[in-house]
Amino acid sequence: MMRILLVEDDEVLRDGIVAGLGLDGYEVDAVTTLAEAREGAASGDHAGIVLDIGLPDGSGLDLLAEWRRSGMKLPVLLLTARNLVSDRIEGLDSGADDYLGKPFDLSELSARLRAILRRAAGRASSDIEIGELVVSEARRAVLLSGKEIAVSRREFAILRALTERPGHVLSRSQLEDRIYGWQEEVESNAVEVHIHKLRAKIGRDRIETVRGEGYRIVAR
Ligand code: CA
Repeated sequence: MMRILLVEDDEVLRDGIVAGLGLDGYEVDAVTTLAEAREGAASGDHAGIVLDIGLPDGSGLDLLAEWRRSGMKLPVLLLTARNLVSDRIEGLDSGADDYLGKPFDLSELSARLRAILRRAAGRASSDIEIGELVVSEARRAVLLSGKEIAVSRREFAILRALTERPGHVLSRSQLEDRIYGWQEEVESNAVEVHIHKLRAKIGRDRIETVRGEGYRIVAR
């Protein structure tokens, strides 16, 4: 089931959207503040975000701009309170994938959401570029400055996980989840070993260790 993060402080509207999208087969995590939205988006559990602009602790537009600066790539549908052209332009400039002016039909929200999720899925299947490094899911290949680098299946899975969310720290256990199948036995230092090998192949400084937290990929 596809999980959506909904950020909306109006209770009636929030409940309506949760129910409406629920009927369309989405699982909706509803939050009401920027702080909760930040936490929700960082969980990595969602396929997309529906974001209100006027929130109790600030503007959804500011949060969206912050997300995009940090490389957060989830598709975002903005809910604009007023039918102001300036809001819409600012929204699209901040990195919204689409917007919907209140009041709106739940069926329209659902259709718009479906469209941005579909577009995002198309993007996700294409190559990811981090500086000189290219990770191609379709070809299951890693290229550095245009030259293909041979990596194992598990090294590829780790690199793929890290490059999906550039700059974002993934913990050892999150990476273990990506390289081991369900109920497969996990070797205790496997992630470290794979990271070590990957660094030897793509350059030490492309994968940063964040002490006590995990690893992240950085552009070089
Ligand atoms: Ca609001």
